[in-house]
Amino acid sequence: MEYPSKLVEQAVEEISKLPGIGKKSALRLVLHLLKQPDSQTFSLTESLKDLRSNIKYCSICHIIADTEDCTCKTPSRDLTTICVVEDTPDVMAIRNTGQYNGMFHVLGGRISPMDGIGPENIRIDSLIERVKSSDSQVNEIILALSSTMEGDTTSFYITKMLKDTKVKVSTIARGIPVGGELEFADEVTLGRSIATRTLFSAE
Ligand code: ZN
Repeated sequence: MEYPSKLVEQAVEEISKLPGIGKKSALRLVLHLLKQPDSQTFSLTESLKDLRSNIKYCSICHIIADTEDCTCKTPSRDLTTICVVEDTPDVMAIRNTGQYNGMFHVLGGRISPMDGIGPENIRIDSLIERVKSSDSQVNEIILALSSTMEGDTTSFYITKMLKDTKVKVSTIARGIPVGGELEFADEVTLGRSIATRTLFSAE
C-alpha cells in the first residue's frame, strides 16, 4: 500500500501490529483519529503510556492489578480454595458469575510443547509453593483451564505435582451449554457429560 504521508504510514504500521487488525483496518482507525479532536488522541496515548508504566501483577496470584498486593487475601474471600486459570480475563469471567469466592492463580499460559512452552514457562512453581507454604489454608485446587489438549496437559501436570499433598484437585464441569440442544453436542462433550454427571437438584 502506498501512503500519502510517512506519518500515516508509521501509525498504520504500529496499529496493525495489534492482533486481528490488518493494514486496512489500521488505516481506517488512523483516519478516524485524525478526524477527532486532538484531546481524544492524546488521552488515548496517555492512557496507554500510563498502563504500560504503572500496571502491576499481584505477587501471589499474578492477577493484573494497580498494586502488587491485590485482594487475594482479604478475609471475606474463601482462603481454602484456589481456582487456577490461564489468564486475567478468565478471572473476570469467573468473578462475574458470582458463584465463586475463593482465591485465584493466573498461570499466564498453558503447557504447549508444539509452541515450545513447558511447565517452567508458566507460573506452576509459584502455585505449588503457594499450596505447600506453611501458612497455607488451601484444601482444594479448582482447575479452570481450556478444554483443549494443551489445557488438559497443563491440568495433568499440576495434578501430578500436587500428588504428595492432601489438597483435593477438581476441574470445572464440561458439558452441554445452557440452552444447547443435545443432538448438536459433539461426541466428546456428550461423553464427558455422561461420565461426570451430577445429582439433579429440584431446588
Ligand atoms: Zn493476588
